[in-house]
Amino acid sequence: MFVREIRDPVARLTGGKAGTAAEKALVHVGVTTIGSLLCRYPRDWEDRSRFAPLKDFRNGQVCSIARVLAHDWFYVGKTRTLKIFIEDETARACLVCYNRPFMKNQLAVGNDYLIYGDFEFKYGEIQSSSFDFEPAPIRATVPATTAGAGRVAPGQILPIYPLTKDLRMTKLRVLVKQALDAYLPAIEDEIPQSIRERYHLLTKAQALKAIHFPESMKELEKAKKTIMYEELFYLEVMVGKRAQAKRSVMRRTPAETMSGMTQKTPDFQNMLLDRLPFALTEGQREAVSDINKDMDSPYPMARLLQGDVGSGKTLVAFLATLKAIEKGGQAAIMAPTELLARQHAENAAKLLEPLGVNVAFLTGNVKSKGRKQLLKNLASGAIDAAIGTHALFSRDVRYRDLRLVVIDEQHRFGVMQRQAILAKGDAPDLLMMSATPIPRTLAITVFGDLDVSVIKGLPPGRQPIVTHLARESNEGKVYDFVRAQLKSGAQAYFVYPLIEEGELDLKDAVSMEERLVTEIFPEYTIALAHSKMDEEEKRLTMEAFRRGDIHILVATSVVEVGVDVPNATCMVIEHAERFGLSALHQLRGRVGRGTAQSFCFLVYSDKYTEDAKTRLMVMLEHSDGFVIAEEDLKLRGPGQINGVEQSGYIRLGLADPVEHAAILEKARADAFAMLEADPGLLASDHRCVAEVLSRAPPFSDVGV
Ligand code: ADP
Ligand code: MG
Repeated sequence: MFVREIRDPVARLTGGKAGTAAEKALVHVGVTTIGSLLCRYPRDWEDRSRFAPLKDFRNGQVCSIARVLAHDWFYVGKTRTLKIFIEDETARACLVCYNRPFMKNQLAVGNDYLIYGDFEFKYGEIQSSSFDFEPAPIRATVPATTAGAGRVAPGQILPIYPLTKDLRMTKLRVLVKQALDAYLPAIEDEIPQSIRERYHLLTKAQALKAIHFPESMKELEKAKKTIMYEELFYLEVMVGKRAQAKRSVMRRTPAETMSGMTQKTPDFQNMLLDRLPFALTEGQREAVSDINKDMDSPYPMARLLQGDVGSGKTLVAFLATLKAIEKGGQAAIMAPTELLARQHAENAAKLLEPLGVNVAFLTGNVKSKGRKQLLKNLASGAIDAAIGTHALFSRDVRYRDLRLVVIDEQHRFGVMQRQAILAKGDAPDLLMMSATPIPRTLAITVFGDLDVSVIKGLPPGRQPIVTHLARESNEGKVYDFVRAQLKSGAQAYFVYPLIEEGELDLKDAVSMEERLVTEIFPEYTIALAHSKMDEEEKRLTMEAFRRGDIHILVATSVVEVGVDVPNATCMVIEHAERFGLSALHQLRGRVGRGTAQSFCFLVYSDKYTEDAKTRLMVMLEHSDGFVIAEEDLKLRGPGQINGVEQSGYIRLGLADPVEHAAILEKARADAFAMLEADPGLLASDHRCVAEVLSRAPPFSDVGV
């Protein structure tokens, strides 16, 4: 079986007991099956395999077998503190156990332990207060395989996993170890043998074992290389398959298109354009013309529509949607948040329904009864356009004839989420939209052949947003300014880095809403919007804000993408030093959407880094999203662009297509050559690839 096919619950490892704290904590981070546990790789490794004696403590971490000589106690204030004297073959040292008196029983006098930690020379002795220990191994290096099941052998290279609350490292290591012991023998290989041999890669089972518990740093490197290659290989297999389809799969024969023409469908696009109170901008017109050309061709479209925040991409998406419907098909418009999806659905109801187009809104939250009918209508074709979140590609969603997939804020989605929605149609046209430009090379590696349309400029009448920096101590002036704006009938956003009060000394949305209501703007209506809120409550709040019944919206970065309320003219971002450039730009883009002059206040506290200062200066000096994206790239470096928190371009386990470009090149060449020579993947060497694709498609655990 393939590792992703191991669907046994993690509870199987915790003695069959479901609902333990560890299991719950894992579920919380999306690890429900043992397969996903094994695919959650360490973020780092601690090398306890190479012994570093006490006398060399200045060279870095000590890792040595030492005997406990004596215990001693001393006082720190009124607290009795334990000191343990130890000795290895090279030197004596002591361990200072602040707040750990119980170590007395764990490190017994006369016994040997493997001691691991940072030591320094202090008060005339070599000492450490941050150390770890294990029972001493019998031999200098113990092969991991001799360790008892479920016990982590000492002297190994130990995995360091990203932790979450309620999940301890030792517990996690034991769980992974147990999983490996139980399942490893059954795990099948996923890359063709010929390729594995060519690059001297490990088998999948070897690689999994070694990525978690390597026996040497060299083996770890091999495991990393194997897994990265595999990830990039499958990424390129997917890209290659789509490129192949684009080149050779004609979805509709010309004759079919012709017969469709005779059926005379209404000219929806022009009907919509006639109804709009404004004309398309030149950029929008060009984009629509590119899209129409693509959609009229017999090959599936793959186009990225780039345009700064506020440039009017949504309208272009609606026009593309109408094109798909004119051709007798359906369209799906996918947005990353429910808030944004709902806004699109509302706009679509306003703009498209009057033309006789049936629009449906689909998210994970749509209640089951209505959902059933909705799914039926999608499958029968009674619904022309479905607008929603990830729910659009849930397993139970079927389309009669999905011709167009629009992905808004595409950088928020993972590669495989895109694949999942595309798979709902027969090579549908794909339109991706984003204000965040993708580097060209990245676009090609991730999407294969991708065409790009750019909407330059904003709709007429927009005034540049005036941006001010303000120190936290000057916030009063900012509030006064906002008050004057509110008085003239405008609305405002206040954005905070945290939802609720946390450990960090930062302002948060919940507490600030209370302050704004009671102390600062008692005369105005104020409401909260953040991701922990009930969706229905959030919806009502947003509606009220859009109607103007709410004057101030206090939020977190949930309002970052897409939200469109033209009457809002003030954006106040507190602790602006805590936000990334693209977030700041997106947030600022929430104002300046009408014809009135708009303002953005970046309020920063004294605790900012140099980078934060640069970011704020960039925001002050630039308004063009493309320039800001370039500055962002300069600041963070290309390796960072795929930072998980920033974007989900390519959420691979270990590999980063930019950083590991060399491996990517090879994987791409290999995948393409394989598809070229054997498109059906019939050769015995390629059978494993066909099996993987059908039984356990990679990156498929994308969380719906
Ligand atoms: P974005 O590109 O950031 O997604 P939107 O699609 O949300 O931008 O559009 C921003 C606002 O501009 C919306 O209120 C929309 O109705 C308006 N808009 C779009 N196109 C035009 C146009 N050609 N002229 C005037 N206003 C427009
Ligand atoms: Mg948008």
